[in-house]
Amino acid sequence: MPQHRHTPARICPACDGFASAAVTLGGRDRNGRRRTITAHCRTCQGTGTVPPLRQLLKDAADAAFTR
Ligand SMILES: [Zn+2]
Repeated sequence: MPQHRHTPARICPACDGFASAAVTLGGRDRNGRRRTITAHCRTCQGTGTVPPLRQLLKDAADAAFTR
């Protein structure tokens, strides 16, 4: 997987930096706006970037060994 060497921050690989998205629930509220909820990426907690590599490895190890 290619690395984004030109970016100072480590972009979250799960969401590619698009950490949150508005999900349409359908229908409109009384003001005529679409009703949406904001879904945040679970990997980066909505930040769009990931923690330093040390933390990333720790999380990966935790995930691997808890299955
Ligand atoms: Zn993410």
